[in-house]
Amino acid sequence: MKITSLVCGVLLVALVLTSAADKKIVLVAGRPSHGPGDHEFRAGALLLKSCLDKVPGVNAVVASNGWPTKLDGDKRIDDNSVFDGADAVMLFMDGGGGHPAIKGDHLRILGDLMKKGGGLGCYHYAVEIPKDKGGPESLEWIGGYYEDRWSTNPHWDADIKTLPKHPITRGVQPFHVVDEWYYNIRFRPDMKGVTPILVAKPSDETREGKTSSPRGPYPHIVAASGREEVLAWAVERDDGGRGFGFTGAHFHKNFGNDNFRKLVLNSLVWLAKMEVPADGVASATPTADELKQNLDPKRK
Ligand SMILES: [Zn+2]
Repeated sequence: MKITSLVCGVLLVALVLTSAADKKIVLVAGRPSHGPGDHEFRAGALLLKSCLDKVPGVNAVVASNGWPTKLDGDKRIDDNSVFDGADAVMLFMDGGGGHPAIKGDHLRILGDLMKKGGGLGCYHYAVEIPKDKGGPESLEWIGGYYEDRWSTNPHWDADIKTLPKHPITRGVQPFHVVDEWYYNIRFRPDMKGVTPILVAKPSDETREGKTSSPRGPYPHIVAASGREEVLAWAVERDDGGRGFGFTGAHFHKNFGNDNFRKLVLNSLVWLAKMEVPADGVASATPTADELKQNLDPKRK
């Protein structure tokens, strides 16, 4: 009897905490890749989830280690059920030729979500995708992507001096932070439908690409001296869905920057078609210890 009551109580709490009306945001965190503190996809996704869990009406789900999988006997197979009913998906993972989104039938799975008006946000390396596989889809779904040798990825201190009026920038103040801010993104022709969210001017030294991979200089990047560059952007698609690209978040510690973190949280809420609060999504500044939680194990 007592056990039954306990089970009922737990179920009731679960029902109260997660209702069908909640917006489901799936945060897909890539496999460990870089050294400690860099590309901490899982730690970043869990930190964002801990903030989103305090937002009424959000059901944030983290899938770690790349595309979600489940055990089928002794084999691991895709578990696309994680995306069932998703209002928005965050891809935070290594991209390029190994981008999990272009493996198997994953582009189709994402495409089906987009057709239903789902939101898609790609963060840091996840914005890089091959131009002939995933590139066209990225233009359609999020408005742009990092194209190898066309775009560039130096480490630099981007000084965000002004922010446009947009739900994603609510409560965000101008800020500057060192990150691997990619730029010269391959956007839709004439930036059709693309709203720049973060813009900053790289120095000529940054344009030299001494910290880019592969190393610069790339003549077309150097030649654009003095030009402002788009580091994050948003689109509202014809199918009613929303897309967002964000090139920073190489360094996990940047989630400790209140403006940086608020902008990312706002973007996730906006992608799920929720109203972003007038002051943006509130969250406590993570402590130094909290920023060390869930880091990937050191690689040998
Ligand atoms: Zn990086």
